[in-house]
Formats: sequence, structure tokens, C-alpha cells
Amino acid sequence: MVEAFAVASGKGGTGKTTSTLALGMALADEYDVTVIDADTGMANLLFHAGLDDADVTLHDLLVESSGVDVDEAVYDRFGMSVVPCGTSLDGFAAADPGRLRDVVADLAADTDVLLLDSPAALGSKSAVLPVVLADRIVVVLQPTVPSLSDGLKVQEYARSYGTSTAGVLFNRVRPDEDVDAVADRAARYFGGTTLGSVPESDAVRAARRAGEPLLAHAPEDPAADAFHEAAATLDVRSGDAAGVADRFRSAVVPDRP
Ligand code: ADP
Ligand code: MG
Repeated sequence: MVEAFAVASGKGGTGKTTSTLALGMALADEYDVTVIDADTGMANLLFHAGLDDADVTLHDLLVESSGVDVDEAVYDRFGMSVVPCGTSLDGFAAADPGRLRDVVADLAADTDVLLLDSPAALGSKSAVLPVVLADRIVVVLQPTVPSLSDGLKVQEYARSYGTSTAGVLFNRVRPDEDVDAVADRAARYFGGTTLGSVPESDAVRAARRAGEPLLAHAPEDPAADAFHEAAATLDVRSGDAAGVADRFRSAVVPDRP
């Protein structure tokens, strides 16, 4: 079985990378999870997962002539299979974004849940592809009206490619924020469910500095509890791996968003 989720939002800094790894670790209690840094232009998942020194990354897989096997860019970390992406501009320039289809199709053959850490903006081919390829998106939002409206643009774009919404995850929620009022609106405008509400927490920043996912660095932190609850609320569907792989391989790469 496999279902692919793009972890998306309208803006950077909402916590997509943090959430991708936290949801991935929580889901790994039950599923075989593969996490891919599909933010190929502004990759930073490697820093969150202690993979700064990874030799082979997604960038290599996106270059036809590199001769690198998909397996070489898959690292066993924190109970998940993690595919980091390099951070060099040259690596990004050499990458052919369309090849992400084959990479994801290959990875889909051997996992239950694929999480694609996705770019913030929808400004280029490489930026929209994760949302186009995924079965569903998880929208990470701060609990503010502008953040909702950015997230809605992503949802609208995703829907136009047949990608539905699994749910909305509120992150960086401060104690003085009335998340319920915003969540009521979100429930009206977004598909799926409200997956949860993750507090602003020093432990999240400390985990990032330590190069570890939150659930490894501070498993008892309230933010970690909130990610566990969100993962439990996500109704993972079982797609047929061969069918999913075919769909990825044949996906139309949009020329322009
Ligand atoms: P994105 O991938 O959406 O750009 P990141 O996951 O990299 O966002 O998070 C951006 C910054 O915000 C990081 O420094 C991260 O540690 C911090 N951050 C994310 N979520 C929280 C949170 N719940 N509490 C405190 N800091 C957070
Ligand atoms: Mg990120």
C-alpha cells in the first residue's frame, strides 16, 4: 500500500520541514515511512535530520547522467527512510525537476507512506511538482487569516491537478492566539479535517539546532504530543503501489504554474 502526501503551505517558515519529519516519525510507529526533501531549490531537511554530510542526495537522482541508484540517496534515520536534497545552487541548476516523477515512483514501490516536504511558493516547475504528484496535501498554517488565505491558494492549485486535502495542521500557535476561531473558518474552506494544533515551542528550535527531528530530540514536549495526535488523526489510505507508481511516472509536468 502507499499514499503520498505533500506537506505544503503558501509561505516559508510555517513549519513544513519540521512537520514532515515529526509526522513521519509519528506515523513510523505504524507504517513504513519515506520522507523526501522535495524542496529542491531551498532544501534544508538535511539539517533537521543530521544528514548535512550526506554524499548522495535527491539532486544526484535528478541528473540523468549521474548514474546514481535511488537506493543510494535513501538513508535510514529515526525509524524512517529519508531522502535528503543537496543545497548547492549548481546541484539545483543541474537537476531536471521532471525526474522527480520516476524517483517518487521507484520509492512508492517499497513504502506505506510517502511524505514530500514541499516548496513554499508555486513559482516554478520544481515547486509545483510535489503538489501535483501527491495523492493529498497536508496544509501547514499559522493560525492567522493571511496564512489561511495563502494555504487556500495552494489547495486551489492542488485541486486543479486532482490532489485533494488530507487536512490542516496549525503550527507555531502561541498561547494568546484564538486558534478555534481560525479553525472554524479553516474547517469551512479546506477539505479534510483539522489535524491538530502545535504550540510554539523552544524545543522545536533546539531540535533544529541539534540536527534532530523534534520527536527524537524532545519526545515529551507538548509540541511532540501535538504531532503524535495529528498523525493519529490522519486517515492514511492504502493505494495500490503499482498503480501509484504508474500515475507518478505518467503525471503531466505543468509548464507554468
Ligand atoms: P518551513 O519548512 O515551512 O520553511 P521549518 O520547519 O524549517 O519551516 O521551520 C522554520 C523555523 O521555525 C525553524 O527554525 C523551526 O525550528 C521553527 N519552528 C517551526 N515550528 C515551530 C514551533 N512549533 N515552535 C517553534 N519554532 C518552530
Ligand atoms: Mg522547509
